[in-house]
Amino acid sequence: MLYLQVVRSSSAGNCTLLWNATGCLVIDAGIPVGLLKQHLEKNDLTLDAALITHGHRDHLSNACCNFFRSNGVPLLFGNAAIAGYYEASLPAMAKGNATVRLFMTQPFEAGPFRIAPFEVSHDSEGGCYGFTVQCGNKKIAYATDLVEAPHAMAERFRDSDLIVIESNHDPIMLENSGRPYYLKQRIRERAHLSNEKSCDFIRTVLSLSSRMPRAIVLAHISTECNKPELAQKEMKETLKLCMRDEIEITLTYRDKESKKIAL
Ligand SMILES: [Zn+2]
Ligand SMILES: [Zn+2]
Repeated sequence: MLYLQVVRSSSAGNCTLLWNATGCLVIDAGIPVGLLKQHLEKNDLTLDAALITHGHRDHLSNACCNFFRSNGVPLLFGNAAIAGYYEASLPAMAKGNATVRLFMTQPFEAGPFRIAPFEVSHDSEGGCYGFTVQCGNKKIAYATDLVEAPHAMAERFRDSDLIVIESNHDPIMLENSGRPYYLKQRIRERAHLSNEKSCDFIRTVLSLSSRMPRAIVLAHISTECNKPELAQKEMKETLKLCMRDEIEITLTYRDKESKKIAL
């Protein structure tokens, strides 16, 4: 059995755990370390590696970084610029002794997982990465923090057993929010995927797939410019149009963990 649980997902902090009987991977760790430890203990997990998508502080906290460093958990960054960003911003990284590996765009292995990274478009230093993770005969596709989901990415997502995709904002709620103009513009043009774009992307992925995912996990849902129920409703309508409404939609939250998904 392969399990995935999103511990937290929002601009306030992101963390996802992926594990089976022989290994465990954490994807991003921008949360309080106590919360991470609580989830590791609850599920009796030992980490093989911490895979970090990009250099924004909601994706790696100083306390989690310190925990990885003192427990010898390798930190996997896409490139030297992302590692450099955290070295400059996290005291735990600046201390040294962290095991850091750079994966660039080459597939690599961590514990029982075979990970194929790819770059996505996001306004962070050193760029941002999405992944497909293969474990046994199961495939998981994962991308949050991206402004666009191009066709080439849909090709990578095809035939997955589980999809984690950002569904950040509703464009009208974003426009009507009290956020300053530059921030609205950043979210829309350089940073995050709207519900609409997320739905369009899933439609493309499903049209390319010969087998269907068991679930679609909607991630990095904005608190101010979206509602989990709205993101879910739009994805539900998309699945209905694709005649695939048997696919489960799983929500993620700012302040509580998602449902645990077993594959
Ligand atoms: Zn983020
Ligand atoms: Zn980001």
